[in-house]
Amino acid sequence: MSSPFDVFITGDDEVLDLLAQEWARQTSTLQLIASENFASPAVMAATGSVLTNKYSEGYPGRRYYGGNQVVDEIEDLARRRLIGLFGADHANVQPHSGANANVAVYQALLEPGDTVLAMRLDQGGHLTHGSPASMTSKAWNFVSYGVTPRNDDPAAPGEMIDFDNVRDMALTHRPRMIVAGATAYARRIDPAPFREIADEVGALLMFDSAHVAGLIAGGSHPNPVPYADVVTFTTHKTLRGPRGGAILCRSDHAKAIDMAVFPGQQGGPLEHAIAAKAVAFREAAQASFSTYTRQVVANASAFGDALAREGFRLVSGGSENHMVLLDLRDFDADLTGKVAQEVLDRAGITTNRNTIPDDPRSAFITSGLRVGTAAETTAGLREDEFATVASLMARALREREDAAKVERVREEVAELCALFDPYASFTK
Ligand SMILES: *Cc1c(COP(=O)(O)O)cnc(C)c1O
Repeated sequence: MSSPFDVFITGDDEVLDLLAQEWARQTSTLQLIASENFASPAVMAATGSVLTNKYSEGYPGRRYYGGNQVVDEIEDLARRRLIGLFGADHANVQPHSGANANVAVYQALLEPGDTVLAMRLDQGGHLTHGSPASMTSKAWNFVSYGVTPRNDDPAAPGEMIDFDNVRDMALTHRPRMIVAGATAYARRIDPAPFREIADEVGALLMFDSAHVAGLIAGGSHPNPVPYADVVTFTTHKTLRGPRGGAILCRSDHAKAIDMAVFPGQQGGPLEHAIAAKAVAFREAAQASFSTYTRQVVANASAFGDALAREGFRLVSGGSENHMVLLDLRDFDADLTGKVAQEVLDRAGITTNRNTIPDDPRSAFITSGLRVGTAAETTAGLREDEFATVASLMARALREREDAAKVERVREEVAELCALFDPYASFTK
């Protein structure tokens, strides 16, 4: 079996064979990685277009190469559509990824050594929010806020962004910039209190909406654009476009942001990816995309409930977005995130291990697992199917020493996947 998109790769059996294997993997196993999705055939076609041939350093109307009349229109269209989707004065659609977008913003608006307040990595922040492993921590002075302590009272769940801590840290360190946004956080992130704290200490506010961009576009998460000086995006997570990044900002930052992306960070833009971003922005403006994002959130909530019934503890007690962060220790004190991810891989369920707040285990081993509903909701799974997936996950993990039982789960996963071809949903 091969994917319907490989028709032009004739005569290269090595690549064709690998693409066929990956197509089979994506369509016969469950994709629960919270940062993944199934981009539409239109997005993939644009990614595979002749625009990959074109050099277009610079911006529309100000290029360093000839022949960019059409490319200018494409990039302008992408910028207009992005602004139409979220608001904002100015858009930059050139960042090759979310990480590039973040670093470009820091470069644009900060001096080397400036203080930045962002979410701690082990509490849900991203590598580009000042992790010691990232160059961001060497170029700028990152200080961090975290989440409130664990609280098992469902009426007052803990492990939510601790705004008292954000404010205390801001008053103590007087950051030049505050970064809101997370990579492993299952709750809504309200931009308003971040703006208040930023104003109180005279800081800029950057909202990193990499994960929730699609939910914002679909009206299923508050839009940070009216609150933040700059909002960064990935286009391939819940937004369901090509792999890439984007930035929206106020007009007073536009020039600095554009200069930081090119020539500050990057060379020639990926205009094929920019065309695919334009396609995705149009798709995300449709009413059907709002319906999709509401289903993503409803599915994550139902998935979390079903996982809790199987004995997993939900970090922060629930989910308000597209992801669920699981603490595995209540399910099985000996089960690490690393082993859970490996067992689930054998069962045809693709997830990633993740640290949880105050994790006693290392970032390589972890006590947590992160799952998301964005991709499989695209494939058509609803609340009932996610409840089934929760029980399949629990079965595989309970029976992990018995290879035949794990294999039986894998067969049931494949039967479920056969009913929900992600690419059938686009042609219905
Ligand atoms: C995914 C993510 C990024 C980085 O995106 P890439 O495209 O992988 O570089 C940045 N910030 C947050 C919060 C993310 O979740």
